[in-house]
Amino acid sequence: MVKAEGVHKSYGAAHILRGIDLEVQNGEVFCLVGPSGSGKSTFLRCINHLERIDGGRLSVDGELVGYKQKGDKLYELKDSEVAVQRRDIGMVFQRFNLFPHMTALANVMEAPIQVKGESKAVARERAERLLDRVGLGDKMGNYPSQLSGGQQQRVAIARALAMEPKLMLFDEPTSALDPELVGDVLDVMRDLAESGMTMIVVTHEMGFAREVGDSLVFMDGGVVVESGNPRDVLTNPQQDRTKAFLSKVL
Ligand code: ATP
Ligand code: MG
Repeated sequence: MVKAEGVHKSYGAAHILRGIDLEVQNGEVFCLVGPSGSGKSTFLRCINHLERIDGGRLSVDGELVGYKQKGDKLYELKDSEVAVQRRDIGMVFQRFNLFPHMTALANVMEAPIQVKGESKAVARERAERLLDRVGLGDKMGNYPSQLSGGQQQRVAIARALAMEPKLMLFDEPTSALDPELVGDVLDVMRDLAESGMTMIVVTHEMGFAREVGDSLVFMDGGVVVESGNPRDVLTNPQQDRTKAFLSKVL
């Protein structure tokens, strides 16, 4: 589903991603861990083309992200073409970024109506079903300010799912939450994983990675240091940098 080959990204003189190689299979829960500043969010943003890579190749579902190839030349996609690629990829951030002036239901209905030109009736029916699925069937009329952080994050997940993405990206979705609210959000993610969704999850929740993850990559300094089955990497890390990191977070 996602293939990165020697992906590089700099911000000015700061060389952040220094040749990322990895592959995410269809239906896989792919966990990305690593110290602060290692480039995890930057990499997710490249997958969604919120950032443009400046070296290597990155593809989603067989299509280059942000470029098209003719012969051996690459051409940048137009903004409208990037938008089409992006609408198949759902993203959930640490901060929930809901529209504050809209109810939970309206938040989830918004993108299919605005981006896909869907009818209100169809969007509403799906939004109600999704909010039910994330356990918020009784909160559909609440505004974000009337929801807990965990509830807001579940609305954010439902909102991303409303676009029927083929890939979901999660960037530390539980790290801004009070500890007692984390479990409900992880339960929703676990349910989504069981439904077969392909998910890339940046997380410090090693329990989640161990139980739900199919693969785990440890990143440091803009490269993949170590990867494998989460159980193996977490219990028997091979690299010193991985060991040092895990000893701090486990
Ligand atoms: P964290 O665990 O703290 O979220 P991270 O692994 O997600 O860290 P990134 O957010 O990808 O790290 O940042 C990697 C590096 O890139 C950091 O040194 C950061 O300061 C830098 N960086 C990120 N975004 C920008 C930007 N828009 N302009 C300049 N530098 C940036
Ligand atoms: Mg980050």
